[in-house]
Amino acid sequence: MPLLIHQFAIGSDNLGILIHDQSTGRTASIDAGEEAPILQAVKETGWTLTDLFITHHHGDHIAALQPLKERFGARVVAPAADAHRIPAIDVAVREGDEVQLGETGFTIFETPGHTSGHIAYYSAEAKVVFAGDTLFSMGCGRLFEGTPHEMWTSLSKLARLPDETLLYCGHEYTLSNASFALRYDAGNAALQKRAQAVEALRAKGEFTIPSTIGLEKATNPFLRAAELDLARAVGLAGHPAVEVFAALRDAKNKG
Ligand code: ZN
Ligand code: FE
Repeated sequence: MPLLIHQFAIGSDNLGILIHDQSTGRTASIDAGEEAPILQAVKETGWTLTDLFITHHHGDHIAALQPLKERFGARVVAPAADAHRIPAIDVAVREGDEVQLGETGFTIFETPGHTSGHIAYYSAEAKVVFAGDTLFSMGCGRLFEGTPHEMWTSLSKLARLPDETLLYCGHEYTLSNASFALRYDAGNAALQKRAQAVEALRAKGEFTIPSTIGLEKATNPFLRAAELDLARAVGLAGHPAVEVFAALRDAKNKG
């Protein structure tokens, strides 16, 4: 039976996600940024929270971890590398580990860069990846605790997933990411089309997430750092992709 996914807003731009394994009724919250909107989502869906799948230690992803764990007795799955700074972990996971939500299986990818312990949850059978603050639609997370090389390696890992894989992430940043992307990849027809679609979605107050890995490979400047157009746009034609990536990330930091 399929995995059901319910997405909702938390605060101004965080994305809350509940996933529900229909066969067993088990339900996970991807991250736990704020209690009230997550409780509201639990109520709306009628699902019972059984698991918390944590991507990284930032407050906007774990502030409600302990209250939700206490309220529901939920099992907390989180990166082993962050065991010292994420409270109350039940299952500490590393690269390649398998986690079950009822009958739906997930593979853990370590994706350092935004934070050193960041992980993503990928389900091949449900064709979905929960990438936290590593990969956004047309963007990527800031490098708070990692090198460009680490983040490029993490993004490349996600880019190797099948094109049809649905991409869920931690923030609805897509509209501003699109305007940055257009500055550096103006001739990209797929990007122009996606930017228009994103504007229309936001004008209607709708989410732009999920995206897909295939769409991101075609439109996300940070995944396209190996393309000559992007290298030229930052004056680094002929340089390794990781250097182009680093230059793009610097430019994005400066707005
Ligand atoms: Zn973060
Ligand atoms: Fe975040």
